[in-house]
Amino acid sequence: MTNQERIKIITSFQSNPLVHPLTCGVNSLHQNLAPVDCGDDEVILKCLDCGYKQHIDDEFLALLAELDTRQREFGKTREDLLKQHRYVKEY
Ligand SMILES: [Zn+2]
Repeated sequence: MTNQERIKIITSFQSNPLVHPLTCGVNSLHQNLAPVDCGDDEVILKCLDCGYKQHIDDEFLALLAELDTRQREFGKTREDLLKQHRYVKEY
């Protein structure tokens, strides 16, 4: 996995309203953790409010990617069902 791919996964996950975002380990009221490219084949998560850092491995990233995709699909299905329901009611 390249750093670009890692950042893409994290950014998508953190912007998904259907999952709980990764937050600061010091204070959960801080803004969501942001990916930082450390070069050297490593991306870490960092709190931009206090500098808290969290290391992540590719196994964890793969899990995030899967969760992100599944929840987005679930959200889409739910929206479709709601639309259908509204349609039926209106008709
Ligand atoms: Zn913080």
